This record gives sequence, structure tokens and C-alpha cells, in this order.
Amino acid sequence: MNIKDIDSHCHDRSAGLLTLTLDEYRGYESAPGQKLVVGLHPWDTLECDMYEAFDILSDAITDPNVVAIGEIGIDPLHGASVERQEQLLRYQLQVAADARMPVVFHIVRRYDILLKLHAEFRPVSASAVHGFRAKPEVAAQLADAGIYMSIGPKFNAETVKMIPRELLLLETDELPESEIRNVIAAVADVRGMRQGALADLARENLRRFLNSGAKSV
Ligand SMILES: [Zn+2]
Repeated sequence: MNIKDIDSHCHDRSAGLLTLTLDEYRGYESAPGQKLVVGLHPWDTLECDMYEAFDILSDAITDPNVVAIGEIGIDPLHGASVERQEQLLRYQLQVAADARMPVVFHIVRRYDILLKLHAEFRPVSASAVHGFRAKPEVAAQLADAGIYMSIGPKFNAETVKMIPRELLLLETDELPESEIRNVIAAVADVRGMRQGALADLARENLRRFLNSGAKSV
């Protein structure tokens, strides 16, 4: 099975689509053909120097290798207060909207904030929540808003069954990209699909997600 161009969220440096924090991005040399997703991670919101952070972010959006903003979002268990995280998130969503770039979110519990901001910003480019493990009711709300849901090694099977075909993404997150095989196998099993068909679907969805922005990928 061809596993190229399927993994939507991976921190392993050899990934085809690599997610980096702003700190990691500074000075990073991407490998030939490698695409990057860059943003201020919610966990980094406590120590960040906001001016420096947004300086790096504005460099990143003009870098042809950077194809999406992320992972950005809200995590009440880490980083700055939720209010401060929401403020930093709004700023980054404005940058993403102005640059017409897709956004990858890291959301813990506070899907209400995501849905509120999504309704407010009405982005023309696509949004995705990575490492999606929430309940089926949350998946239904995200599906109504047209937000992609990216499924990794740990997931809620009832939720995975009901994600609309066109909004399903797959990821390895902290694991090497080759581990996407195991994610494909597990998700195909839950959804009653052939692994090859799921791989093709996830690849096509990721392509559409990335191409929703102003840069063609
Ligand atoms: Zn991540």
C-alpha cells in the first residue's frame, strides 16, 4: 500500500508534511519536497514573547514550504490561561485568514471556543482538528461547520464511524510517519472499509484540505 501524502499531522522530522512549533521552525531547513505546518502551540503560550512569536509567524506565512498554520488552539490543562490562549488564537486566526491558509487545531475540551471562533471568522480556507478523540456529538457539530477531523493512533470508535467521508483525515502525531499503516488498519476496521480505499480517501481529503488555501500545494 502507498502510504505517501496521507499523514496530516506528524512531528517526526522525516515526515512529508511536518508540524513544527515556532521555536522549532526558526532556522529549520526543510528537506526537498517537505511541506511544513507552523504555529504557536497552546502549550507554548505561557513562556512566549508575543512580538517574537508573531515575527516568526509572519516570516513563516511567506515561506513557500509552509502550507498551513498549526497546531494552534486551546488546552485548559497546559500553557497560559484560557482567556490568554483565546487571545493568541484569535491573532493567529487573523494571520491565517489574511494569508488564506488552512489551519490545524489542537483542542482539549473547549470545542465551544473553536465553534464560536469558526462562526466569527468564517474562514475561506479549511480547518481541521488534529488528534480528534471527542464524543460523537462533538463530531456532529464539527461536521456541520465543515471542519475536518484527523484521527490518530488513539480514537473513539463510535466517533470515527460517524465522521463524514469528505472530512476524515489520518495522522501519526508523535510517531514516525510509517506508523500511519497501523492507523489506516485500525480506522478501516472500525469503518468497515478496505485499507487501500481508506488510504486513497485520506490522501484525497488531505490534498483538498491543503489546497483550500491561497497556496497551491
Ligand atoms: Zn501534535
